[in-house]
Amino acid sequence: MRLPPHDSTCRNCGAPLPPDAAFCEQCGAAVAVRQTSVSSTCPTCGAILADGEAFCSECGTKCK
Ligand SMILES: [Zn+2]
Ligand SMILES: [Zn+2]
Repeated sequence: MRLPPHDSTCRNCGAPLPPDAAFCEQCGAAVAVRQTSVSSTCPTCGAILADGEAFCSECGTKCK
């Protein structure tokens, strides 16, 4: 039993996944995003916004 090189593995079949994979290459299951509870992204730069965040931490765009 060896650990995968990345922290992302398929929750369905356990296959190691590329860091930015959206679907498992082995079983096709949708891969959960590693960030916790992604609710929205910045319309300007696409950065992931934390829950309740009113301004983008990357570019400062007001997002609410
Ligand atoms: Zn899988
Ligand atoms: Zn932004």
